[in-house]
Amino acid sequence: MFIGMMISVVLVMVAGLFAIGLAGNAIWRAVMPPSGLPRNAGCGSCGYELTTLAAGRCSECGADLLKAGVTTRRNAVRLAGSLPAALTGWTLLVMGATLVVLYTVSIVTLTSSTRSMMNSYSASYTYRPALTGAGGGASGSTPSFRVQLDLDVEGSRAGRPTSGELMLGLSANASVATFRFDDVSTDDWVLTDDAGAMVATGTVLASDDVLAAFRAVGLDPDTDASLHGFADRIEELAAEALQNPMRFSTSLMIVATQLPAGTPRLDQVSGTSGFGAGATPFGPMNPSDAIVPAVTLGVAGGIWVAGSVFIVRRRARLIEGPRPTPSV
Ligand SMILES: [Zn+2]
Repeated sequence: MFIGMMISVVLVMVAGLFAIGLAGNAIWRAVMPPSGLPRNAGCGSCGYELTTLAAGRCSECGADLLKAGVTTRRNAVRLAGSLPAALTGWTLLVMGATLVVLYTVSIVTLTSSTRSMMNSYSASYTYRPALTGAGGGASGSTPSFRVQLDLDVEGSRAGRPTSGELMLGLSANASVATFRFDDVSTDDWVLTDDAGAMVATGTVLASDDVLAAFRAVGLDPDTDASLHGFADRIEELAAEALQNPMRFSTSLMIVATQLPAGTPRLDQVSGTSGFGAGATPFGPMNPSDAIVPAVTLGVAGGIWVAGSVFIVRRRARLIEGPRPTPSV
């Protein structure tokens, strides 16, 4: 797909260069004086400037003017280039340039507005512990618990949310201990037990806090050393979810095969996420969004009119010829 896009871009650029060449050629031929442009009507055979057609023959070479014809400025200019072709070429050039400007402007504004757009975002993921290279979870040494992460935040997509909450629940032995971040713009948390009673509070969730939560659900880090490693993972999970929740699901992907054997990790087993209703990156149409395209179209229209007038008048002067110098 990427190669296809590259080929498309190259083809469009080559076609554009050909179109520019054709249009430029048509304009050039229409407005530049052709070589050998006679000052007055000339003999169609030798080009000698005729002063009279009365004889029907060229006074220089004697050619029959009914057969050789008479070259005039008008037909010399018209043979060299076409006015409709020049105006069509000019129109295509202006339209092409306008298209490039409008396209570039819309890409830039769309990118910046998407980045700064306020969004609401919610996610709900479940993780299970796993030890890399330890028999794919079938090993009896992997502790049995689940991590439930729920977040519901508002903010820009660029980083830390401005408001919202995050809940991180550890469940084992049919009970659950939950870290609640009621305001995700801070790192303040409250740990509640299965009955909802407060067990501890703190700022910035650390691995040791997670160990306390393990104990609250009946898992003992003193007898299962792997719980220390899983506590580290949960600390990282919370930090990542607080720091960049809207990119959370993609930024947390771990290539398990690159971890040393026996590394505690958290595997996502289920989850959903999504942006809130009405939070599309495009948002409502803003009247100021129309200013740049309108100005671009206005400038392009002005340039097109000026260029067209120039081409038409320039040809009229070519055909008319140099003004006779006043005799002194
Ligand atoms: Zn002649």
